[in-house]
Amino acid sequence: MPFRDIAGHRLTLGLLARAIAMGTLPPSLLFAGPRGVGKCRTALAVAQALNCLSPRSDVRLPGNGDASEATLAIDACGVCAVCSRITRGLYPDVILVEPDAETGNIKVDPVRDVLERVVYRPYEGRRRVVIIDDAETLWQSAQNALLKTLEEPPRGTLLLLVAAHADALLDTVRSRCQEVRLSPLPEAEMRALFPDADAGLLRLAQGRPGRLLALCRLDVAALGRALEEVLDGRLPGSAFARAAQQVVEQRQEADAGDDEAAHRLAAEVCLAALCDRLAAGGAAPAGAAAALLELATDLRRHIPPAVAWVAAGIELAGRRVGSTSPASP
Ligand SMILES: [Zn+2]
Repeated sequence: MPFRDIAGHRLTLGLLARAIAMGTLPPSLLFAGPRGVGKCRTALAVAQALNCLSPRSDVRLPGNGDASEATLAIDACGVCAVCSRITRGLYPDVILVEPDAETGNIKVDPVRDVLERVVYRPYEGRRRVVIIDDAETLWQSAQNALLKTLEEPPRGTLLLLVAAHADALLDTVRSRCQEVRLSPLPEAEMRALFPDADAGLLRLAQGRPGRLLALCRLDVAALGRALEEVLDGRLPGSAFARAAQQVVEQRQEADAGDDEAAHRLAAEVCLAALCDRLAAGGAAPAGAAAALLELATDLRRHIPPAVAWVAAGIELAGRRVGSTSPASP
């Protein structure tokens, strides 16, 4: 995806494009910012702009919401053979390192493998780009293995670390990277970028375009209904757990994977709905909020979703405090 197709961050994208055009891009960058804000897309856009067969120059981005007009000194075409192979993850000089699906961590071996590959010149491209996604999940030994390469990357190689929790990285790693911070987009810009999006979903997206797209794939209304019913005592905890899991399993493009992120997002949707209910004077069991927070933690710790949702469901259906019906007159 070229820079111009990324939602928001115009100032940052403009600076990156200018550095690429002038050949002044630092060899090690850390893209920091919350999940779903566009960090990995930006890293891929950098890789495309560096390797595109027919890059465009002086691409104008029209004004939008809060964002004023901007110009990109260089941008990938997005359609040449190289661009499309980068998008599909099939370009040998753009290497993506991601957490292990089972443990959620990046161990030292895959990092060592990549470091062995980058000592050779790029196979086809002008620049080899190594993108380490969720870099905060790198084992400490893996981070230490990276230090020397971060300090002196081999000629023609660019290292891009992507992290939602950059503060979890070793100081020695952070200090060797130029940090590029991507912040949530202002509300007005989100509204201008996604004029058809539901106001409730926009609020839940918290200025993060990727999160909004993930929310649009979920049946958020069904999730909200299941939560209301379990909190009202009309649905047993186990049935709530089944309903929530069904929403995740039946989301659009579920085949794209990342089930764990979808479960976590569903848990966050439930927590936001609970907060709204309590703010409106509704009742809930005493441990409801804690149960949903624990659900999110359990999912991050790779507890099987079926177990985590049932545990939360039992608490949500549990001992009741407060009035029996929400906002009763
Ligand atoms: Zn291209």
